[in-house]
Amino acid sequence: MAALAQNKIPAYLVLDAYLVRAVATSGWTPSFCDCAGCGDPGPHRSFNVASGGAVCPQCRPPGSSAPAPETFVLMDALMRGDWIGVAATDDRARRQSSALIASYVQWHLEHGVRSLRHVDRGDHEIAAAPARPATPATASEGHHS
Ligand SMILES: [Zn+2]
Repeated sequence: MAALAQNKIPAYLVLDAYLVRAVATSGWTPSFCDCAGCGDPGPHRSFNVASGGAVCPQCRPPGSSAPAPETFVLMDALMRGDWIGVAATDDRARRQSSALIASYVQWHLEHGVRSLRHVDRGDHEIAAAPARPATPATASEGHHS
């Protein structure tokens, strides 16, 4: 936040950093370097929200976007909280990064809601059928040798 105080980081980039980290802590950590499909070491040139971020030429689905290399660097810096790296980026990378992060967050929120419903239903089934009955509080009696 020191970078923000120095007025070098536009507020929307701080929001982008918050969004990308929020979605990462929810379990959908995007990859901004290695291929999100096969793990092939990056950097790669294509980005696909449904695949989970950067994708190599073999994993690249049709309709993937092709951001500038600086855009991948910026998104990675945002996720790591590298504000010096963020401050060094240009406007084009910032615009691309904002658009891609917004798409990524929206896609995973929409699909995450379905996943959460599924998990929630499973929890209720477990709660309705406890694995063992409640233990009565009779520890002080019933001892015999
Ligand atoms: Zn791949």
